Amino acid sequence: MRKYKFEKTTCSQCGKSFGPGDSGYSHCEDHAQVKKETRGIRLPLWMWDWLDGQDDARGVIVEDAIKKVHKPEQSK
Ligand SMILES: [Zn+2]
Repeated sequence: MRKYKFEKTTCSQCGKSFGPGDSGYSHCEDHAQVKKETRGIRLPLWMWDWLDGQDDARGVIVEDAIKKVHKPEQSK
């Protein structure tokens, strides 16, 4: 697991905060890259809206959610 310098990064242009990272963003076009990383995932529109309202980056939330659901050792 990677260790990041900051627990939370922010964009100085729009003030939005993002997930862990080594540096924040100076311009919105910089964190536009973050969104592109998760573009391959198909999610319901309501979920995208919900993700937009969260503090953490979409990728971080989605990854966390998948980990919670797919617990290898969990059995019924
Ligand atoms: Zn921004």
